[in-house]
Amino acid sequence: MHKQNIDWGNLGFSYIRTDKSYVSDYRNGSWDEGRLTPEHTITMSECACVLHYSQSVFEGLKAYTTEDGRIVTFRPDLNASRMAESAAWLEMPPFPEDRFVDAVTRVVRANESWVPPYGSGATLYIRPFMFGFNSVIGVKPADDYQFRILTTPVGPYFKGGAKPLTIKIADFDRAAPRGTGHIKAGLNYAMSLHAIVQAHNEGYNENLYPDSATRTKVEETGGANIIFIKGNKFITVGSPSILPSITRRSLEYVAEHYLGMEVEEREVLLEELPEFEEAGLCGTAAVISPVGKIVDHGREICFPSGMEQMGPKIQKLYDTLTGIQMGRIEAPEGWIHEI
Ligand SMILES: *Cc1c(COP(=O)(O)O)cnc(C)c1O
Repeated sequence: MHKQNIDWGNLGFSYIRTDKSYVSDYRNGSWDEGRLTPEHTITMSECACVLHYSQSVFEGLKAYTTEDGRIVTFRPDLNASRMAESAAWLEMPPFPEDRFVDAVTRVVRANESWVPPYGSGATLYIRPFMFGFNSVIGVKPADDYQFRILTTPVGPYFKGGAKPLTIKIADFDRAAPRGTGHIKAGLNYAMSLHAIVQAHNEGYNENLYPDSATRTKVEETGGANIIFIKGNKFITVGSPSILPSITRRSLEYVAEHYLGMEVEEREVLLEELPEFEEAGLCGTAAVISPVGKIVDHGREICFPSGMEQMGPKIQKLYDTLTGIQMGRIEAPEGWIHEI
């Protein structure tokens, strides 16, 4: 297969236009058959629902080249079902889940020359999204929708790759207890932009949001779940207002069944943070990015794993998960979808 002439090892996390996107339109109560398109711009009404009332949801997954040269995606069925749930929550017609996986397959195939080679450290990021398309001025859901999938080759999400991050306890709330924190919607990110710019200006990599109701419990960062290590325990946050990360749910399985760890998914108090030995952010984009330090309004919590490298347990989780994704380690049934 001919590959694009790209310096794969030095890719950052930014948009590069590839050959084809996938598009399907929802009109008169049903989705059309869908198609691949070389057109990467969208023309719509200035009064489109998405532009005024943010009726949009999205997903994120990756295509990997395995050690033996196959192209695969990781658990795309879970992205399909999560997107359907996100859509329903915003009164949008879910894109059929079997068609979602088929569309991912088709769009990756059409962009095969953009899938980074094995061992390059880069992957092809796949971004399905859908939005309210037609004009609305009174507040109500749109009648027409567009579902699209764009792909773009990416390197590491955080500059510096495996260097531990410093994050701060956010001054803002991310998600209300009965709000939209558990769906993957652009609106959750709009509110995080001011907070992330402020955090960056103060020298932090990310914001860690506490729960909005009491501000005593850990939730997640703007775009990744947080995980902790304590002895042989793998501890993750159980909360109805965080995004159910597929990476985190997969790591829970890996920790228990591959590494023999004890898994706890539960409330995590800010107060307990100093008891943990290692911490990391996990998600499709972040993979696992180690956290070295959390700063809570002047109080510094420094994990024993330090600021130079990943702690040993998180490293093992990272190696096992990426080993499964890249075909070096046998995957649980149904996790690897071959393109
Ligand atoms: C997408 C996302 C994650 C990570 O989810 P994955 O399924 O692992 O990619 C975590 N938190 C938020 C807020 C997200 O939007």
